[in-house]
Amino acid sequence: MPELFDLLPPDEARSLLIGRMGPVSVRTETVGVADALGRVTARPYSSPAALPSFARSAMDGYSVRAADTFGASDALPAYLEVVGEVPMGRAPELSLSVGQAAVAYTGGMLAEGADAVVMVEHTHPTGGPTIEVVRPVAPGENVVQPCEDVREGEEVVPAGRALRPQDIGAMLAVGLTEVDVAARPTVAIVSTGDELVAPGEATGLGQVRDINTHTVAALALRAGAEPVPIGVFPDDLDAQRRAAWEAMERGDIVVFSAGSSVGARDMTARVLAELGEPGVLVHGLAIRPGKPTIAGIARGKPVFGLPGNPVSAMVVFDLMVRPAIRALMGESGPGRGPSEIATLTMDVPSVPGREDHFPVRLSRKSGGTEAEPVFGKSNLIFTLVRADGLASVPLDSGGLYAGDPVSVSVF
Ligand code: AMP
Ligand code: MG
Repeated sequence: MPELFDLLPPDEARSLLIGRMGPVSVRTETVGVADALGRVTARPYSSPAALPSFARSAMDGYSVRAADTFGASDALPAYLEVVGEVPMGRAPELSLSVGQAAVAYTGGMLAEGADAVVMVEHTHPTGGPTIEVVRPVAPGENVVQPCEDVREGEEVVPAGRALRPQDIGAMLAVGLTEVDVAARPTVAIVSTGDELVAPGEATGLGQVRDINTHTVAALALRAGAEPVPIGVFPDDLDAQRRAAWEAMERGDIVVFSAGSSVGARDMTARVLAELGEPGVLVHGLAIRPGKPTIAGIARGKPVFGLPGNPVSAMVVFDLMVRPAIRALMGESGPGRGPSEIATLTMDVPSVPGREDHFPVRLSRKSGGTEAEPVFGKSNLIFTLVRADGLASVPLDSGGLYAGDPVSVSVF
């Protein structure tokens, strides 16, 4: 069997692919901000209003004229006359004269003439209409000034932002209720292999149920795309060609599963190469698992041949397909999912020049997070089911030792 030559480090392969995708013109749609979690903004948004739009008390207490409290202490309190309250959600109907205060609530307005708020903890009742103030406040103290959160015209979110809960809250706070976002790219999925049967069917000897259509669909969905399963096809060139063309028609991205190596029965590279220029850009990644990976571009569409091994297919999806999906959506970030640093509990051998990914179980310890490798051959789907994430040994490393920090991409 011929070897895969020119194994590319995954980072290089990813840059090569995304570089060749060129400036993507993102299809957009308008959605309600409240329903836009995870969607990627198609343009920047600036605030149509200042926030807060009025000076707000930051504390429960009394709005005062700061000068009336200067020098106040436990020994020598300032006595202020409480002339009423400013209710929540209402403009003040009170105006303070020298020596007066008004009850203030967190987030409420100050009385007219007030320029600071005294915390209720720094006051004592006297039984009458006056209070004792035992700490001075400076002008502006305990007050959130207009525009302090955001000014009118200031950028609220940039283009290419995957909206987070706080972005949604901030946009709604300034009255932005609709947002233009990238449409969900479609990911057409073709599973290949004479041995595959649909999960609803019984397996004869030598047959296995199709996992990859469904793991890849789920990964695509989680990456913000819309999966379009094309079906399961035999290791037959014409059948796969037809599947590939249907996938090109229905997908912004085409993902083939299996047949991605260089054996006699592996035809994915050939089928994808026929789809158009520039064709296959990467055949072989310097990783384990996931070496027999194909990535390319045909008529402007990213096309992939994932290894058939279900674990490899999932690893490569995260390294290559997810970033392509996110780039198609115009996301400005790295395109990879979140990762965290954990401490490895045992030695993990590797070889320099290859990036290894292995499933780990995570446990929270007082000193941080520990990552314990889940043993099992790399092609066993249940090693992933029993794991919390995938840890990686960097490309140039010959292995990691127990106690070393390791980067874990959390499921
Ligand atoms: P291949 O990439 O065709 O050499 O396949 C590698 C291994 O992955 C073989 O053991 C296949 O049976 C298995 N495989 C391929 N496609 C799938 C699939 N869709 N679901 C589950 N296993 C698969
Ligand atoms: Mg096969």
